[in-house]
Amino acid sequence: MSPLTQDPRSHGLWARSAPPAPETPSLAGEAQVEALVIGAGYTGLSAALHLAEGGMRTLVLEAEEPGFGGAGRNVGLVNAGMWVMPEAVLESFGPERGEALLDLLGAGPERVFRLIARHGISCEAVHAGTLHCGVGRKGMAELQERERQWKARGADVELLGREAAAGLVGSGIYEGALLDRRAGTIQPLAYARGLAGAALAAGARICGGSPALEARHDGEAWIVRTPGGSARAPRLILATDAYGRDLWPEAAGQQTRLPYFNFATAPLPEALRAQILPQRQGAWDTKEVLTSFRMDAAGRLVVGSVGALQGIGARIHRDWARRAMAALHPDLAEIPFEAEWFGVIGMTDDSLPRLHRLGPQALAICGYNGRGIAPGTVFGAALAAHLLGDLPLEGIPLPEKPLAQAPCRALREGWYELGAQMLHAVEKRL
Ligand SMILES: Cc1cc2nc3c(=O)[nH]c(=O)nc-3n(C[C@H](O)[C@H](O)[C@H](O)COP(=O)(O)OP(=O)(O)OC[C@H]3O[C@@H](n4cnc5c(N)ncnc54)[C@H](O)[C@@H]3O)c2cc1C
Repeated sequence: MSPLTQDPRSHGLWARSAPPAPETPSLAGEAQVEALVIGAGYTGLSAALHLAEGGMRTLVLEAEEPGFGGAGRNVGLVNAGMWVMPEAVLESFGPERGEALLDLLGAGPERVFRLIARHGISCEAVHAGTLHCGVGRKGMAELQERERQWKARGADVELLGREAAAGLVGSGIYEGALLDRRAGTIQPLAYARGLAGAALAAGARICGGSPALEARHDGEAWIVRTPGGSARAPRLILATDAYGRDLWPEAAGQQTRLPYFNFATAPLPEALRAQILPQRQGAWDTKEVLTSFRMDAAGRLVVGSVGALQGIGARIHRDWARRAMAALHPDLAEIPFEAEWFGVIGMTDDSLPRLHRLGPQALAICGYNGRGIAPGTVFGAALAAHLLGDLPLEGIPLPEKPLAQAPCRALREGWYELGAQMLHAVEKRL
């Protein structure tokens, strides 16, 4: 049985509605290639696809199967840019690198949708934009500022007032919404599987069920050991993000993991389908512990927020999700849930991604802070271009950072879950 379907709360709806996974037999014996990629999420798969297209013999080692990590569990919002405001990116990275990063990530969704079209990936792709919904005066002030900063860079964003937002959301509970026409939605696991299929077709080899247990450099090349064999290559990309295991503890420990859950309804009746998100934008709100919601191709509403569906939290978050749906639209109150699942998001202290040099010709990029679909795709391609000799490392607009353990990691992770439970226990109670 696929590791994705053993636990119904790991990949939920996406495991049920994605096209089948491509064959990725585990590594047996020894392999020698030109580039090794560890981790088959968006970063690793995009890197492998672009490396293989560039003619490099490439092997991907994946502990479980493509899309097992965040790539197969997320909401599927293909966002442009990061959480932090554009001007905050410039403050952190400086004007030149900051603007280059904003350009790269602002164009990220366009790149994802083009890649999907080029490889004929069947993943419910909808390039209709996203709605960042404003809660209260503070939320609207934030959206106004976001609109100003993105418009100054020529981005196709528009702040909608209450009435226009209500028309697109299908609910009058928000004061307004920032419509970002650059963005869209996908079925996230289907996209990961499609990328894997495209990488295989381009000539890459992907070994599922092959956790990298040890990586060492013998002076000439990297040697990576798995339970069934070992692989050797002069170049290496570590793309394990928040699902990194013991292999590189310093890499795994530098992010704080934020749990995030989703509930999917049964397909909505026609009348509701025509009212809720009628143009199929993906949506989320400005609250600190946010609510996200989107439709899938079959008309299921997917509602999510911060928290893990385990222990006492599972009931608290499920009850909250029911109330959140009823608050969005009273007719949603009676619609049953068909699936529920959760995963962890890798968060960095400055909310910006990280580039690390791990050793000779060995690189890692991680830390997308809940926005990894477009950035993972774009940075995977950039890492490939660098290893192919087509892009200097300085051409990737991220500063190179040393690996460092996130301060008070365990404490903060515990607080994320506890805080979300406390809030969800009381929020939206009548
Ligand atoms: C619930 C949730 C909601 C989210 N919502 C969104 C959203 O709406 N939009 C968005 O853009 N982003 C979202 N994200 C974030 C996004 O999913 C991640 O940023 C993205 O998946 C990161 O891609 P990646 O390829 O770097 O890592 P991952 O997709 O996590 O892949 C890492 C892979 O590495 C493998 N691995 C780990 N250790 C080893 C090892 N030792 N050997 C071999 N393989 C290994 C794992 O099994 C995994 O498959 C969300 C994340 C979650 C969990």
